[in-house]
Amino acid sequence: MFETLSNSFSSALKKIRFKDDEKALKKALAELKKSLLKADVHHKVVKELLQRVELDTKAAGIGRDSFLKALQKNLTQILTAPGKQGFVYASKPPTVVLMTGLQGSGKTTTTGKLANYLKLRGKKVLVVAADLQRLAAVEQLRQIAQQIDVDFFGEEDEKDPVKVVNDALKLAREKLYDVVLIDTAGRLAIDEALMEELKRVKEAANPDEVFYVADSLTGQDAVRSAAKFNEDIGITGVILTKYDGDSKGGVAISLAHQIGVPLRFIGTGEKMPDLEVFIPERITNRLMGAGDIESLAEKTAAVIDEKQAKKISKKIAKGKFNFEDFLEQLESMKKMGSLKNLISMIPGMGNMAKAIKDLDLENSKEIKKIKAMINSMTPKERKDPDLILKNNSRKRRIAQGAGLSQQEVNKILKQFNNAAKFAKKFAGKKGMQDMQNLMK
Ligand code: GDP
Repeated sequence: MFETLSNSFSSALKKIRFKDDEKALKKALAELKKSLLKADVHHKVVKELLQRVELDTKAAGIGRDSFLKALQKNLTQILTAPGKQGFVYASKPPTVVLMTGLQGSGKTTTTGKLANYLKLRGKKVLVVAADLQRLAAVEQLRQIAQQIDVDFFGEEDEKDPVKVVNDALKLAREKLYDVVLIDTAGRLAIDEALMEELKRVKEAANPDEVFYVADSLTGQDAVRSAAKFNEDIGITGVILTKYDGDSKGGVAISLAHQIGVPLRFIGTGEKMPDLEVFIPERITNRLMGAGDIESLAEKTAAVIDEKQAKKISKKIAKGKFNFEDFLEQLESMKKMGSLKNLISMIPGMGNMAKAIKDLDLENSKEIKKIKAMINSMTPKERKDPDLILKNNSRKRRIAQGAGLSQQEVNKILKQFNNAAKFAKKFAGKKGMQDMQNLMK
C-alpha cells in the first residue's frame, strides 16, 4: 500500500538541497507536486497542501528540517477529517455498523474482513445479511462467516431488509454480541429506490457507524459517490477497497479532505486478513519513509498470543525450534495477511516491499512441499528434527509419504536446520553484533 507514492516522495525528498533560499524551496515544492499529481491526488488538494507547506516552512525559516516538519504536519491534516479513527466501540454494546456501498465495490467481502478484524481482537461479532437485492449476497456472506468462524444472521425468503435488521438486533441484544455488522443492499448506480431503502434500514438499525465501501479503482467516482451517500443518508466513515490493484493511491490522500468524512480502513486484497486500518499520522509516516511500526505491532499482537511468542523465543534460544512450531508460526503469519504489506510497515523497507513479489503463504510451492513433508512425519519426528537428520530410512519414508524426492527432503531439512541455527544465534547477544555487521 502506498509504495509508489512513498517511493516518489522519498526520491523527491532526497533531491532537495537547502541552502536557506527560496529557490530551493520552490524546487522542493515542485518535486512534491510532481509526485502527488502522478499518484492521482486531486489537483485542488495538492495545491492547498503545497500552499500550507510553503507558508509554514517560510514562517519557521527555510531549511530541510522546517520543510519536512511542515510537510508532515500538513499532510496529516489533509488526511484527517472530523470523526472517529480506526474502529470505535459504542459505550454500550452492541456496536451497530451499517455497511453500505454500490454493487461490486467489495461491500460484502469487506463486511467479512471487518468481522475477522474484530474477531481477532476478541470481540463477539454477528454479521447480518440485509442485502436482499443481489441474489447471491446472502449466501456469499453466509460462506464468508463460516470461513472466518463468525456468527451469521439471515432470513430465508424474507423480502424486507427492515424486518431482518430488527430481528437481528433483537438477537444481538439477547445474546450479548459486541458488534453487529449489517450488509445492506447495493445497486449498480445510485438511485432513489436504493436511498429510500437505506434510509429505512438506517432508521430501524439506529447505527453507531455507517461505513461507505468504495472501489478505489474508480478514482474520483469513488469520492463523488461517497459524497452523495453522505448527503443523502449520512456516513461516518469510508472504506476504500482494491488498493492492491491501485498502486497510485491518490484517492486515499485526498478523500477525507474532499468530503469531510474520515477514511477508516483500506482493503488490500481479496483475502480476509487484507484490511488495513487508516490512521492519518501513521500514513504520513509511511509516506515519508518512516514506516508504521505501530500498525505492525498491533497486527502482530492481534494474532500472536504473547505467552506463545515467549515460549517460541525460548525454544529458539535453546536450539529446540521444531517442525510443529514451524507449522504453528506459519498459521499465525497467515492471519496477518500479505507479507508485502507487513514489510512496507518497517521503516526504510518501502523500496524492499516494492521489489519483492508477494510471497503467498498458502500457495507457495516451497511451503506446500514443507507442509506435505511435515504431514508425513510421526509426532515424535515433528518434535525432534534430529531424529530425521541422521536417519536415511526415515527420510525415505517421509519423502514417499509427501510425494517428494529424497533430495528435496534433504534440501528442506538442511534449510530448516540452518534457519534454526541462525535464529538461535540471533536470539543470543552475539546475534545483535552479527545483525549490525549485516547492515553495514
Ligand atoms: P459487493 O457487491 O459490493 O458486495 O462486492 P463483493 O464483496 O462481492 O466484491 C466484489 C469483488 O471484489 C469480489 O471479487 C471481491 O473478491 C473483490 N474485492 C473486494 N475487496 C477487494 C480488495 O480489497 N482487493 C481486491 N483485489 N479485490 C477485492
